[in-house]
Amino acid sequence: MNANFMQTPIVYLKGVGPNRAETLQSELGIKTFQDLLNLYPNRYLDKTQYYKIGQLQRSNADVQIIGKIINIKTVEQKRGKRLVATFVDDTGDMELVWFRGQKWIRENLKLNTPYVIFGKCNWFNGKFSMPHPDMELLKEHQQGHKIVMQPIYPSTEKLSNKGITNRVISKMVQQLFLETNGRFAETLSDKLMYELKLLPKAESLFNIHFPKNQELLAKAQFRLKFEELFYIQLQLLTKKALRKQKIKGFPFDRVGKLFNEFYKEYLPFELTGAQKRVIKEVRADLGSNAQMNRLLQGDVGSGKTIVAVMTMLLAIDNGFQACLMAPTEILANQHYTGIKELLSNINVNCSLLTGSTKKSERNIIHESLENGELNILIGTHALLEDKVQFQNLGLAIIDEQHRFGVGQRSKLWHKNDIPPHILVMTATPIPRTLAMSLYGDLDISVIDELPPGRKPIKTVHRFDSNRLKVFQFIRDEIKKGRQIYIVYPLIQESEALDYKDLMDGYESIARDFPLPEFQISIVHGQMKPADKDYEMDRFVRGETQIMVATTVIEVGVNVPNASVMIIESAERFGLSQLHQLRGRVGRGADQSFCVLMTGHKLSSEAKTRLQTMVQTNDGFEIAEVDLKLRGPGDLMGTQQSGVLNLKIADIVKDNDILKTARHYAIQLLKDDAKLEKPENLVIRHTYIQLVKHKNIWNYIS
Ligand code: ADP
Ligand code: MG
Repeated sequence: MNANFMQTPIVYLKGVGPNRAETLQSELGIKTFQDLLNLYPNRYLDKTQYYKIGQLQRSNADVQIIGKIINIKTVEQKRGKRLVATFVDDTGDMELVWFRGQKWIRENLKLNTPYVIFGKCNWFNGKFSMPHPDMELLKEHQQGHKIVMQPIYPSTEKLSNKGITNRVISKMVQQLFLETNGRFAETLSDKLMYELKLLPKAESLFNIHFPKNQELLAKAQFRLKFEELFYIQLQLLTKKALRKQKIKGFPFDRVGKLFNEFYKEYLPFELTGAQKRVIKEVRADLGSNAQMNRLLQGDVGSGKTIVAVMTMLLAIDNGFQACLMAPTEILANQHYTGIKELLSNINVNCSLLTGSTKKSERNIIHESLENGELNILIGTHALLEDKVQFQNLGLAIIDEQHRFGVGQRSKLWHKNDIPPHILVMTATPIPRTLAMSLYGDLDISVIDELPPGRKPIKTVHRFDSNRLKVFQFIRDEIKKGRQIYIVYPLIQESEALDYKDLMDGYESIARDFPLPEFQISIVHGQMKPADKDYEMDRFVRGETQIMVATTVIEVGVNVPNASVMIIESAERFGLSQLHQLRGRVGRGADQSFCVLMTGHKLSSEAKTRLQTMVQTNDGFEIAEVDLKLRGPGDLMGTQQSGVLNLKIADIVKDNDILKTARHYAIQLLKDDAKLEKPENLVIRHTYIQLVKHKNIWNYIS
């Protein structure tokens, strides 16, 4: 069907009309014929297959089973009664469960008579069970009219209130196929079709809406998912190539005196293999004529700072200034102190600029920045202020990227005509393929190795009722000279409550750990920055043994002597946050511990989070679980949630297809960068259409 026809406003489809058109647009974003065609069903009711109880999988699909009920009983529970029937076939047994309408069912169900049941199975108490099954006597089922797979479209309350039910939407889609004869042009090249054995476009669209059977549905889904991810990858790769071509960077072609001197004389430890590799990757970027735009991922404690420092030295060696921006004042301070110490024997000027830098100091910094005396500026958001002008900023490093938006990143760009090289460092491990699709315009380096000699942190889960034992453990560790963090949740909506929790906790800790034997620091969001820093400092210097805090300490803080992290109400934290917090310990040579404290009532998701933390220290593994629990939108924060605008593919579940799509997109561009070859014209054409009608992922900045 021709592409213009498919852009016809949906109001012109027979059976739609102005009212429905408006609701379709506001509820589902459907404006055109094309949009309706791309409204794919969420799921299907498969009535083509009969399953045996013995073959059931723990999947989310609906299943149809033939069997009979051999007994039925009422089970009383605190939460109410339910009716439970034992349903058997020749391969096993399962349960059918009713919470509503029990009397009617009990009176009407026939024992020991063949039924066909249909519905979703749960795995519960080591058995499959089906709540409120659709049931039909086998005898009647065999006489009736056979329905195949019924599509279930996305819906909203407003849609059903306005009478746009699933059946109505399905009718509209049928009408669309009628008007177009189901003739839709192919959008992938013959080569891809052949190599991947893909179902043709028209056939895929037909089977996604009206599947003839499971096999064709699976093929249609694969093809459409592949196509969707393929064109995203194509766009990302094209964009990146364009950037490399168009955006010139400062070539840092010298590896000069400072870098070499530092490397040979003052490096405080042997670099890990991963650190060496990343520095090599960075140097290759900087030496080319293009702007570096690199994401450096490394778990907490993997040693990103030293990579940042050496990269800054490269900039200075080439006559440029560098800056390092951190998300909090505490972290900026720590970077400043640490980096100053690392570079104490090297002739480099380094200053700190944060919100609490005094005016007189500020003026000095502004001046020395502009006249080029200052080589390195470390700080917070304060670096982004207009007053901060560099003489020649060649490199900007951003730590803990997830706290800054894309807009802030680009603000740094505009401090020069030629953009500085950008290195973004993050400790939030993002599975590589996901990172590729979210940050497709960035190159990615990974430090996947911890410095040698680190003992893995021992993590345990303890219930609040075991608090006394935990306190005794804290006492023992303090006796050994260790320091302890005790962290309370801080969730914005209930800040007052959290504050109360924190204060109650502090009081009870102060009672159990009395002065003068024990000294306690406390840090929370409602304190003045100066007070916070004072308390923090006491802990860093070892004057206090216990730090009671909210999550403000989450990012970056480095106190190697702190070896125990107690997390209160751990069930209220997300996985990545738990992992970040745990990363505050395990930085020294001593065995470190993390104790996750919770109440007894835990959701199953909370249990999974706690189990994951107890089982592994691997940030990437944790990120994978997190991703499965929360989905990529949450992982990245709302800012990138536009990424979820995918119509059919799921970045998490379809990771393999994503990899395949990326592989083929790379191959294609390698072979025909401008998509000029005749056999690729169909791809070129599709790509242009997608961009033109904004049907392609305009989330990419
Ligand atoms: P992060 O990646 O979390 O920013 P840091 O750069 O703060 O990690 O490094 C964590 C700790 O590990 C620091 O105390 C640092 O000095 C130390 N460190 C970094 N790299 C090495 C190495 N190759 N060998 C030994 N210690 C290292
Ligand atoms: Mg760090």
